[in-house]
Amino acid sequence: MKTPITVAYGDGIGPEIMNAALHVLTAAGAQIAPEVIEIGEAVYLRGHSAGIEPGAWDSLRRTKVFFKAPITTPQGGGFKSLNVTVRKTLGLYANIRPCRAYMPFVHTHHPDLDIVIIRENEEDLYAGIEHRQSDEVYQCLKLISRPGCERIVRAAFEYARANGRKKVSCFSKDNIMKMTDGLFHKVFDEIGQEYPDIEQDHWIVDIGMARVATQPARFDVIVTPNLYGDILSDIVAEMTGSVGIAGSANLGEHVAMFEAIHGTAPDIAGQDKANPSGLIMAGVMMLVHIGQPEVATRIHNAWLRTIEDGIHTADLYREGVSTQRVGTCDFAEAVIARLGQEPQTLAPVSYSTDVKPFTTAPYVPRPSAPRELVGVDVFIDFEPRQAALLGEQLQKAVVGSALTLSMITNRGVVVWPHGFPETFCTDHWRCRFMGDTGRPLTGQDLIALLNQVVNAGFEVIKTENLYNFDGKPAYSLGQGQ
Ligand code: NAD
Repeated sequence: MKTPITVAYGDGIGPEIMNAALHVLTAAGAQIAPEVIEIGEAVYLRGHSAGIEPGAWDSLRRTKVFFKAPITTPQGGGFKSLNVTVRKTLGLYANIRPCRAYMPFVHTHHPDLDIVIIRENEEDLYAGIEHRQSDEVYQCLKLISRPGCERIVRAAFEYARANGRKKVSCFSKDNIMKMTDGLFHKVFDEIGQEYPDIEQDHWIVDIGMARVATQPARFDVIVTPNLYGDILSDIVAEMTGSVGIAGSANLGEHVAMFEAIHGTAPDIAGQDKANPSGLIMAGVMMLVHIGQPEVATRIHNAWLRTIEDGIHTADLYREGVSTQRVGTCDFAEAVIARLGQEPQTLAPVSYSTDVKPFTTAPYVPRPSAPRELVGVDVFIDFEPRQAALLGEQLQKAVVGSALTLSMITNRGVVVWPHGFPETFCTDHWRCRFMGDTGRPLTGQDLIALLNQVVNAGFEVIKTENLYNFDGKPAYSLGQGQ
């Protein structure tokens, strides 16, 4: 019985490396029945702003397994990233990127590097919600949810346990983003208690990444929000010797997608120079996922042996270490010629049906916390760069309201009632109004306030409600407040 999989050849080096990878998989005896779909540049340019046609979704939802080559997202407005769309539409919340060194066969400054990055795949700044709010200021919303954090953190601990990993490190920037990244860190600490057998620590992402770059042996599995994971995994893959050798799995409850972590490499496209290893390694992960671990083991060991034998594509080739510089097709043939062999210096791998690389646990919702409306941040476009003038005019405008003006910030820094003349101000002001009647606020109170502000001639850009959850403020203070 062959397992149906959906295959996309992609753009740039995509078709070359996909041909090579499928050739290796088939030669190794993979029982797969590829259904080819077209995605990427040609589809974008035919007018589909998402880079995928409706029929392609049918195949993905039917096979639930996607083997994907990289694709180009055309530059410019109007085109949404297909990678992000596919990951989010199909609920592929966990992006698993194993990166390891293959010294002395692939040159790296870090021979002891062996790290798996587990990147949250659906949230964070990749929600893709952006606005121009005033002449000068643009925003991108960072959304972090409790289900998102719980699912990815649990995935990381489960991955560690199932794969004999000893430690999980969480990277976040919760010293600055105390609520969004703070939630990620908090959930990591909470769920970590269920895995006492696994060592765990938390790093502020900037120093964490710096330590990864200098002392990678301190790290084992790293779980981190979307943007940090995107950046970190390219850095770590490149540290192993080439961005071209790491594969990745994008996993969710229903569907899984497997791809190399690199892009379409337009500089070498069509020249038979690309290293197909990243996609071959993604294929290995796919075979384990669809229950063909023996074939995955054969391919992975043959690949390790090929690397050991010094048969390298241009990105890995080094005089004195490599024995043969090969193109994409010949590299695939070299792997095929070594099927059934094991590496002699590097440790051979052995996948088993008993060990799932990843198990998903459905999110169990918690009872909602009681909340109370206590105020509102009103964002105003105000050309005169004078906080005192804005404060004075706003106070006059809202006389008689259930809320009073408590502070004004500009790009987050308090500029009223007490500011510094040195603070640079744009045309974008956050004006915080708090209830002062002693009774809970209602939506009608906010509408009445906005009416007064708008009637006084102010340009309201947007509002953010201020709530207490469980009796505690659930909004950030102004910087300097
Ligand atoms: P890239 O990964 O395509 O290339 C970066 C560098 O690495 C280039 O010098 C390239 O030649 C080299 N490289 C990459 N893969 C290689 C391989 N397999 N063998 C040998 N060398 C390799 O990154 P980029 O240049 O930033 O992006 C190019 C395009 O790829 C962009 O359109 C981007 O949107 C797209 N992209 C797609 C995906 C995806 O589909 N998953 C991921 C990243 C980038």
